[in-house]
Amino acid sequence: MYDRLQALFRSVYQREPAAVARAPGRIEFIGNHTDYNGGTVLGAALDRGTWVAVSPRTDGVRRFYSEFSPTVVTLAPGEIGKRSGNSSWVNYPLGVAQALPFFDLKSPIGFDFLAVSDLPAGAGLSSSAALELASALAFLEVTHQSASREVVVKVGRHAENQFVGVPCGILDQGVSGFGQKDRLVFIDCRGPRFETVPLPAGAHFWLFNTHTKHALVDGLYAARHRECMESAAILGVDLLVDATGSQVEAKRVDLGEIRWKRARHVLGEIQRVEEMVACLQKGDLVRAGHLLTASHASSRLLFENSTDELDFLVERLAAMPGVFGARLTGGGFGGAVMALTTGAFGDRQAQEVAAAYAQRFGARVDSLHAQTGDGANVVTPGERSESKSPEQ
Ligand code: ADP
Ligand code: MG
Repeated sequence: MYDRLQALFRSVYQREPAAVARAPGRIEFIGNHTDYNGGTVLGAALDRGTWVAVSPRTDGVRRFYSEFSPTVVTLAPGEIGKRSGNSSWVNYPLGVAQALPFFDLKSPIGFDFLAVSDLPAGAGLSSSAALELASALAFLEVTHQSASREVVVKVGRHAENQFVGVPCGILDQGVSGFGQKDRLVFIDCRGPRFETVPLPAGAHFWLFNTHTKHALVDGLYAARHRECMESAAILGVDLLVDATGSQVEAKRVDLGEIRWKRARHVLGEIQRVEEMVACLQKGDLVRAGHLLTASHASSRLLFENSTDELDFLVERLAAMPGVFGARLTGGGFGGAVMALTTGAFGDRQAQEVAAAYAQRFGARVDSLHAQTGDGANVVTPGERSESKSPEQ
């Protein structure tokens, strides 16, 4: 990836990159829509991600280019408006540049910016957080600043919440920032507090990307966010994490059917995350698989963010030998399903699933035996195998 990034940077800008950083995508392992409710969540960083190269400019001009959108977007000095249409992807790095001063950090005055990625965008693997974190580290590097991993994570989330306008919690940026190979990241989102938990030996991840995305996905995500906040207000708490199951039952009439379901889902998920941590510590993958499948059922029935395609894949996978459990991963309303499997689940089994999916929906599902990887880091030019992590 480094060589591809450098070659593309040279050909687009006729100069060398001054700083390179990378950040991984992530799998949401369990804890669906718990993050912005102050709950807990477990995720894994992938060995795939987004690489960003930046070189500073003294004239205040900012130029952006991504392999995904191969046209240079040029912003005049001081131009800060949000972009729309084909260049709307620029809002992610631009949002990061705008977010830095909120954390007492400088953003570069002008720059040439370029991104390459081996993550599918919009597949629920958080390509947006990968782009944000890689951008943040590259901007810090060219301005000779350093920040803690936690601050870099918060800068990414700030960009996505405040500039891009997606009310996401800390999960995506937290896992991209704190991921470690062969470990899961546990986040207590209210702190936020980040820890890692070892992945038991013999646990494998398979991802099935449906390439489906609900046309109204952004609005639906925002609607779920709003319903959760309304439920918390009716229950008299700031965030749903502070409510109890019996309070939710006692206020069932006041909540109404929809908000009651959303609250039940969030509290159930938080409970399952706690149980999952205990399962992982014991190496009990069978019980872990049951928790994953129960999480999917809750997303389907109570949070109502699944789709026929995702339900089909989960049902099919959960019934196969070598599969501990499966669930939708990410925001839902399309996207991807994750399965926790033994090493016996391989390409042949994945193809069987894809064939059944093609027969049912007349469409393709892509499978990936996902490998875990390390969190975001600066890649030192000339020492591309070496990397420098943010301060702890
Ligand atoms: P996810 O984060 O699950 O992949 P999102 O909808 O949150 O899905 O983010 C996807 C958006 O992020 C894309 O539509 C695009 O605007 C932006 N994006 C992500 N990666 C890149 C990239 N490498 N180059 C340009 N834009 C990207
Ligand atoms: Mg995203």
